[in-house]
Amino acid sequence: MADFSLTLSEEQTTVRDWVHTFAQNVMRPAAQEWDEREETPWPVIEEAARAGLYSMDFFANNFVDPTGLLMVLSLEEMAWGDAGLCMAIVGSTLAVAAIMGNGTPEQVGEWVPACFGTPGDVKIAAFGVSEPDAGSDVSSLRTRAIYDEATDEWVLNGTKTWITNGGIAHVHVIVASVDPALGSRGQASFVIPEGTRGLRMGQKFKKLGIRASHTAEVVLEDCRVPGRCLLGGKERLDQKLARAREGTKTSGQAAMATFETTRPYVGAQAIGIARASYEYALDYAKERHQFGRAIIENQSIAFKLADMKMRTDASRLLVWRASWMAATRQPFLAGEGSQSKLFASETAVHVSEEAIQILGGYGYVRDYPVERWHRDSKIYTIFEGTSEIQRLIIARAISGVHIR
Ligand SMILES: Cc1cc2nc3c(=O)[nH]c(=O)nc-3n(C[C@H](O)[C@H](O)[C@H](O)COP(=O)(O)OP(=O)(O)OC[C@H]3O[C@@H](n4cnc5c(N)ncnc54)[C@H](O)[C@@H]3O)c2cc1C
Repeated sequence: MADFSLTLSEEQTTVRDWVHTFAQNVMRPAAQEWDEREETPWPVIEEAARAGLYSMDFFANNFVDPTGLLMVLSLEEMAWGDAGLCMAIVGSTLAVAAIMGNGTPEQVGEWVPACFGTPGDVKIAAFGVSEPDAGSDVSSLRTRAIYDEATDEWVLNGTKTWITNGGIAHVHVIVASVDPALGSRGQASFVIPEGTRGLRMGQKFKKLGIRASHTAEVVLEDCRVPGRCLLGGKERLDQKLARAREGTKTSGQAAMATFETTRPYVGAQAIGIARASYEYALDYAKERHQFGRAIIENQSIAFKLADMKMRTDASRLLVWRASWMAATRQPFLAGEGSQSKLFASETAVHVSEEAIQILGGYGYVRDYPVERWHRDSKIYTIFEGTSEIQRLIIARAISGVHIR
């Protein structure tokens, strides 16, 4: 008797279809406007909160699905609706994941609800790691956190860049170095509560795509937070630093393993864009006539669509596998998390570009959505680890060699 099945449960199809309805009815109609306004789409986030889609319960319920599929199913649908609006809705979850991954139960209880607020009083959160001189190389962060024993406060100084919801979030989680000599093992994460003095938004970036999602610098100038804002607490940090100074290799590896498990979430969003592009191009190719026949009757167009469908489906299988492996706590021995994010993101770029080609001139102008989908797709090969970094992780995992 075979155990293996790709059949979704009733709960999974119900949730997926519910998110799809929101994507179809709320996100799609709003997408172009917020792409052009390039502002945080508060009305859409608020509507998502009222519907229950932007809420702690929704993400927690998705996260605990024992098959691991619920979260990736939801993310694919949201990004199918619109990737920029999707990021505006799910951007806060980067900070949530950091709090859940590093915080004590008390900190999780206090700060995770604060990241979402309530439907009547919506809050958003930001997670700041990247700096102007530390992108892929997160071991070289310059932002410093120094403990002030007299007041039991941490004092943060530095500049974070490219931060989703940066400077406008109600809760910021900032990764800073407490002992630069230890590289990434000398770092810690701090919650910066709403209204804390010394944190401000720097430059807001104008972007190629996902323009409904706010991206900005976060400047920290003598930013003081109480000792309880150190995620995990001081005792655990001191133990971690002591282990790092002794040269025991544990914490860095644990952080890498966590990143692997969340990469399918990025891949799932890329699939949403690829699927949207493929579906649109397929319909268009059947409708558009040139030389007295539908353009899909030309092999050159039909074969493109065959490849677009195949690559999108292959991406989904890689994403489902990685998400299932993460949920069932299987070790990623071949960088399966990275494989899923890498393949899905490059597929989204390729498929959305092919969609433009199939629409011809109509694909290139803003009256049709495929140019936006192509612009949106590109970020997925860059953030949360560039394609090159994903290949590095896979290559190291399969070879055991420390490839540079
Ligand atoms: C829209 C947007 C939203 C973002 N949101 C957040 C956020 O919320 N929080 C956050 O902390 N960060 C965020 N980021 C930052 C993002 O994670 C970084 O941009 C990304 O990690 C790459 O860093 P970098 O831009 O400094 O590029 P670099 O690290 O400078 O890389 C430049 C190029 O060199 C390549 N490269 C670098 N090192 C190697 C190597 N060892 N081997 C081979 N090639 C290499 C890269 O692949 C890339 O092609 C966001 C970025 C954008 C654009």
